[in-house]
Amino acid sequence: MDVKIYEYDAVVVGAGLAGLVAAKELTEAGKKTAVITKLHPLRSHSGAAQGGINAALGKDDSTELHEFDTVKGSDYLADQDAVELMCSKAPETIRWAERMGAVFSRDKEGDIAIRPFGGQSKPRACYAKDRTGLTLLQTIYEQAYRAGIEVFDEWYAGDLLYEDGKAYGVVAYNIRDSKDMAIFNARVTMFATGGHGRAFRFNSNAHANTGDSLSIVARHGLPLEDMEFVQFHPSGLGGSGILISEAARGEGGRLYNSEGERFMSKYAPNAMELASRDVVSRAIMEEVRQGKGVGKDKQSVNIDLTHLDPEIILTRLPELRELAIAFQGQDMLKEPIHISATAHYSMGGIPVNIDCQVRKNPKELVEGFYAAGECSCVSVHGANRLGANSLLEALLFGRHAGENMVKALDSGVELRRATQDDAKRFIDEFTRVKTSNGKERVPKLREELQNGMTADAGVFRSKESLERQLKLIDNLIERYRDIRIDDKSDTFNTDLQEALELGHMLEFSKFIVVGALKREESRGGHYREDFPTRDDERFLKHTYAYMDKDYNINIEWGDVVLGKFEPMERKY
Ligand SMILES: Cc1cc2nc3c(=O)[nH]c(=O)nc-3n(C[C@H](O)[C@H](O)[C@H](O)COP(=O)(O)OP(=O)(O)OC[C@H]3O[C@@H](n4cnc5c(N)ncnc54)[C@H](O)[C@@H]3O)c2cc1C
Repeated sequence: MDVKIYEYDAVVVGAGLAGLVAAKELTEAGKKTAVITKLHPLRSHSGAAQGGINAALGKDDSTELHEFDTVKGSDYLADQDAVELMCSKAPETIRWAERMGAVFSRDKEGDIAIRPFGGQSKPRACYAKDRTGLTLLQTIYEQAYRAGIEVFDEWYAGDLLYEDGKAYGVVAYNIRDSKDMAIFNARVTMFATGGHGRAFRFNSNAHANTGDSLSIVARHGLPLEDMEFVQFHPSGLGGSGILISEAARGEGGRLYNSEGERFMSKYAPNAMELASRDVVSRAIMEEVRQGKGVGKDKQSVNIDLTHLDPEIILTRLPELRELAIAFQGQDMLKEPIHISATAHYSMGGIPVNIDCQVRKNPKELVEGFYAAGECSCVSVHGANRLGANSLLEALLFGRHAGENMVKALDSGVELRRATQDDAKRFIDEFTRVKTSNGKERVPKLREELQNGMTADAGVFRSKESLERQLKLIDNLIERYRDIRIDDKSDTFNTDLQEALELGHMLEFSKFIVVGALKREESRGGHYREDFPTRDDERFLKHTYAYMDKDYNINIEWGDVVLGKFEPMERKY
């Protein structure tokens, strides 16, 4: 296969909020930048974010309080220097987004409106109705477009060019015809590929959120950080997992079990429905386990908003109402909605320092390689993310990565020239999958993975359940070698793409499970029934996990950057 080689100053993989804003900074600074994205930028999952983006704008709020809530919510695993940077720059980031053209909802005084979110001592989620992500994504896309970004959309990045501690671009193919394969050779490379929620059966994520870049990085022997920390959001529509934003609880939604009991009073008597997401998710699943679920299979609980002024629902939550009507036939103006915990967000990912440079291990950095947004782990969320902190992370650290790449380029980072040989690894994988003719079917393997992840590596975990899931993943990795793709055509071959994506999902899921097995404690989103308490003595540490050629995963531990907030017991 003949592979074209393009040369750029910077290549950014991913065109969600983090990737677009970085590309905008680079392009405006005159750097020749390519954006590679498997979706049109405006279809990136950032556009699905509903509830809000945090900044301490309220009169009696402060950036320090925002920091405290973030660190406490993280169960003290967040790196406090990164949290300080994020929270102190949040108000400026919102004003900047507004100047770029984002139209936020307003309060009666005409200020940017803020609403309460779980785990936060003050209302601080700024929002645009319940379409906050879409508003921000459209705004940044417009600005990036105006700056002249060069987008390769519907191109799938399959490998990183990496050697001797230096990254120098990616290999990608054009999904439209499955033939064009190219090397994007660059002086600096950035990954901003978003989340990995599709590894779970119940999840709130877009179909594209298959975490490709995680295993792409890991296959080069580079580490992934804190992968065991997956956030389960309390309110996915029962059955499908489609998200009903936390804004529903922020605006006053109440949770009830089948006996009409407002059960959060047992689990978090002070915070009630606005306890942090891990606490509410476990409470919901515990009620279901005790047989107090609602719905056909009794796997959900009710969220009731009927006591609210209909005007609040119609003006602040219109999309949530439409989703519940469309997917469940339930109108929140008139009746409670069935919800249950859904895999939502990945706290872990590609380890980066506070300047978004990728780490080779806890002590060393990879030259010319950056990451930001959900695929990265700058560790502002630690073991659990607060609602509305992730759009902030994507926008703020995406911009920060862009600025840092400009600085690095200005300081004269050299281009390591790529050769045709650099594409060999991906061409081999691509050809093997495209011509595969074995016995196993991709959807079947994916379904087994997803069911197992939700059942055995989900809200509740134990040694036994995790070992079961590990065995399953090893078995699936083995069977994946014997897959069969029926569609041998070239145009938009989604069979081919889904098979490549499944390869990645199997590998990074193993990181989640091995990390969860090794972490014999409960912290934030990671809950071990056999180790139900937090153990700071052994585990106030980041997990760095490395995969070898036989898919064995080895764990090393890294220090947490502590600061002014001492670890305390969490009370609700
Ligand atoms: C339903 C939902 C609601 C949410 N609501 C909120 C909220 O209210 N507030 C909040 O703070 N957070 C919210 N979040 C989380 C937040 O939206 C995300 O964490 C954030 O938007 C991620 O941005 P990103 O730029 O990192 O990735 P994304 O926006 O997911 O973009 C990823 C990009 O990577 C590209 N890509 C991936 N793999 C490849 C590949 N192999 N080759 C080429 N391109 C690739 C995709 O095409 C896409 O452009 C929500 C998430 C969901 C799922």
